[in-house]
Amino acid sequence: MSSHTDHRDGPRDECGVFGIYGPEHDVARLAYFALFALQHRGQESAGIAAAARGGNMMAIRDQGLVAQVFDEHTLQSLEGEMAIGHVRYSTTGSSQWQNAQPVVRDDRRTLALAHNGNLINAVELYAELRDEGVEFASTSDSEIIATLLARHPAERIEDAVADVVSRLRGAFSTVALTDEAVIAFRDPYGLRPLSLGVIEPQDDVRPPAYCIASESCAFDLIGARYLRDVQPGEVIILTEGGLRTRTVGGAQRSALCVFEHIYFARPDSRMGGNVLQVSRARMGEILWREAPVEADVVIPVPDSGNAATRGLARAAGLPQDDGFIKNRYVARTFIQPGQELRRHGLRLKFNPLPEVVAGKRLVVVDDSIVRGNTTRQIVAMLREAGAKEIHLRISAPPIKHPCHYGIDMSTREEMIAHGRTVEEVAAELGCDSLHYLSMEGVYEAIGGSREASERTRSVHCDACFTGSYPLAGTEAAHGKHALEAQLPLIRA
Ligand code: SF4
Repeated sequence: MSSHTDHRDGPRDECGVFGIYGPEHDVARLAYFALFALQHRGQESAGIAAAARGGNMMAIRDQGLVAQVFDEHTLQSLEGEMAIGHVRYSTTGSSQWQNAQPVVRDDRRTLALAHNGNLINAVELYAELRDEGVEFASTSDSEIIATLLARHPAERIEDAVADVVSRLRGAFSTVALTDEAVIAFRDPYGLRPLSLGVIEPQDDVRPPAYCIASESCAFDLIGARYLRDVQPGEVIILTEGGLRTRTVGGAQRSALCVFEHIYFARPDSRMGGNVLQVSRARMGEILWREAPVEADVVIPVPDSGNAATRGLARAAGLPQDDGFIKNRYVARTFIQPGQELRRHGLRLKFNPLPEVVAGKRLVVVDDSIVRGNTTRQIVAMLREAGAKEIHLRISAPPIKHPCHYGIDMSTREEMIAHGRTVEEVAAELGCDSLHYLSMEGVYEAIGGSREASERTRSVHCDACFTGSYPLAGTEAAHGKHALEAQLPLIRA
């Protein structure tokens, strides 16, 4: 019997989006490989929509990994010059087929849409559209955006986008597809990442093919070159005429999710000029500077602690080793291990190596702690394997506040750092010492220097650490799955 047991304890990734306008290319295949590169951002469902200019649109989406949803036959059925794609981990709207994306709406115009983020006014917009007689097929806030755009009376899609964006509140990095354009737009705060890339033509005759992706690692896989980040509040329109851009939604302070740098994005992605692997290693160096300790060896919690471990071990002059071997094939939806096996707990995913850890004073590095269940088990396993001392070093500050911008991080009460001092958390986890990287340390690592720290801070969201939400009214907003929870009330 399968169940939805979740073997991850950290904050969960949200979604990945991709879009391309490429008349000279097999766009569905490129979308497939781009989504494959973005798979870490969502493993619940995958989908691609393709369209020919002035012609038909076709979308295929289903639950499962990219490689499970598509095969040669389905890819070949996705014809056209333009395509968008999506991988999903559910934030608003539960995990079910109807909530897979791209969403397709057919009204004044036919439009497919893929969205990464979370609207904090989804319930209000949903109720309003229902009052106007709109029927929804899903419980995802992405369908609300698609509906507003498909129904919009403006002749040009970019004018519709400009108007609709002014009604949306929250996080949205979005790609949409019509029968004439691929349109990408990012909320005025730029909460979730979005990048622009290009596939250069082989000759001077053919036009370049522009593409959009949540992360630049998608470009590397399909032979595209990363050009730049899409700006907060920017709309990019890709058509037969090439690339056009405009700004909507008013000037706001940029507030990119700082957690993308710490954990979500792939280490080979670029964000704000940084390759994340490098800034994560710097986080490890600063962690050591902030809290050195007498120790024998540094080990990561794989893979989330890998990059910071390298930086910390380098700064400490200590050897690093693999204290755990990780099974990379533990899926989010998994057969229940049953009573007997459950006693072995996390060994399903991590197996400690006594030969590395026994009798040693360990520095154990990870990127974050949310509930603390996984970390507690990791500490227990290391003790059982004979570790002499366990000094936990976390390359992010304590998480104390929920995210309303597209990351699933459980409620405040479930967070181990909520209402506890660092010493109390250390006691809960059973480690000998615990240090969280300071907020200043995070920004120093991202910005590249202490001087750059304040400037870097001013363009990021760090609300889950500090409680300071960039959008006014966020705290009063409806939480995760609010739309679903409120549906019976709205429909009544
Ligand atoms: S609250 Fe935290 S996880 Fe959410 S967008 Fe802000 S920094 Fe990212």
